[in-house]
Amino acid sequence: MNYLSERINLLAESETLAMTRRSRELRAQGFDVINLSIGEPDFNTPEHVKEAAKDAIDQNYSHYTPVPGYPELRQAIANKLKRDNGLGYTADQIVVSTGAKQSLANAILCLVNVGEEVLIPAPYWVSYKEIIKLAGAKGVFIEGNINTDFKVTPDQIEAAITPETKLFIFSSPCNPSGTVYTFDELKAFAEVFERHPHVFIISDEIYENINFVGKHYSIASFESIYDRVILINGLSKGFAMTGWRLGYMAANKEIAKACDKLQGQITSGACSITQRAALVAMATDPSESDDIKRMVDAFKYRRDLAISMLREIPGVRINVPDGAFYLFPDITAYFGKSFGERVILSGPDLCDYLLDTAFVAIVPGSAFGSPECIRISYATSEDTLREAIRRIGEALAKLK
Ligand code: PMP
Ligand code: GLU
Repeated sequence: MNYLSERINLLAESETLAMTRRSRELRAQGFDVINLSIGEPDFNTPEHVKEAAKDAIDQNYSHYTPVPGYPELRQAIANKLKRDNGLGYTADQIVVSTGAKQSLANAILCLVNVGEEVLIPAPYWVSYKEIIKLAGAKGVFIEGNINTDFKVTPDQIEAAITPETKLFIFSSPCNPSGTVYTFDELKAFAEVFERHPHVFIISDEIYENINFVGKHYSIASFESIYDRVILINGLSKGFAMTGWRLGYMAANKEIAKACDKLQGQITSGACSITQRAALVAMATDPSESDDIKRMVDAFKYRRDLAISMLREIPGVRINVPDGAFYLFPDITAYFGKSFGERVILSGPDLCDYLLDTAFVAIVPGSAFGSPECIRISYATSEDTLREAIRRIGEALAKLK
């Protein structure tokens, strides 16, 4: 008897986390698995942020926190948005949560009704589609591909908008493609949304600091749509704090209040210790932080290294992403090939083959709405990356 709810039966497991789970299981059995499936920096949290957390414990920051976050942290986030992004927010427009993932879920659940449409450029981050499903809304996908650096155009967006469209969700820098939209491209998107005042925009900027082309721009910069933008960000990527669980959103006061109400019934305020550490992180200007600079330089170096190695492998088509720490090559040349009994018909087949024979874990592009690709996270040491791509090349060469 299946007594679980339809809601949970319909929900897919996060494929990024599933691949990581499988590689941990294989590792526990003694296999030498290289995990390039999870997107998290391999760097440590900056020392001054860790110190702030230790102080918070000693100072007994051990009580429930206000649901939308400590007032001083909400103010520090508003200050950060001004300093780094030139955006004007007051503290009561900010809601702190247990990770950008929760902020996304809060915003989606507070905005969409059952049956409404949510536009998502593909490739998209894996959880958007499933959170939308949980909310009972309908995902409508706008296709990007490798020939256009996985970017979608304003015309494509405009053509997809219907009276039922409630939301548009995208990330820039993008997970999984690494694509970064320019200021002019974002402006052209904003002009489309100006013409459709019933559409809200979730702008996921969690990879803001991991950008190899210079300044990060937010679509919230455009005054005409500012009130309809829900900006999502957090500490996981930029400050190497994935396990600390802290995200935030900035939006108009009505949306912020709605998210506060929702969070108050589900998780309450984020961890007190993490919030005290976040206060220090938010005071850090990324353009002056050696920790962040060192991390971004390392990612850029690894990106170039991984691209040059992947380009040596026949049949792997790859573009040069401008941000985040993922490569998203097209591997369709391998579909229909086989090794012994093993036939590769899809991205998931290829990822299973690479995990079982090369012990390298990567995520099929189908998880992100692009079945022709695979996602490789290069947030790992240079030596590990070299060895992983060597193994991938060797395994692919066996496919005939
Ligand atoms: N958005 C994107 C695009 C991501 O890649 C991730 C992955 N961590 C998240 C949101 C969620 O981040 P967090 O760890 O803050 O929940
Ligand atoms: N965002 C990361 C990824 O895409 C972490 C895993 C997850 O939260 O899904 O790999």
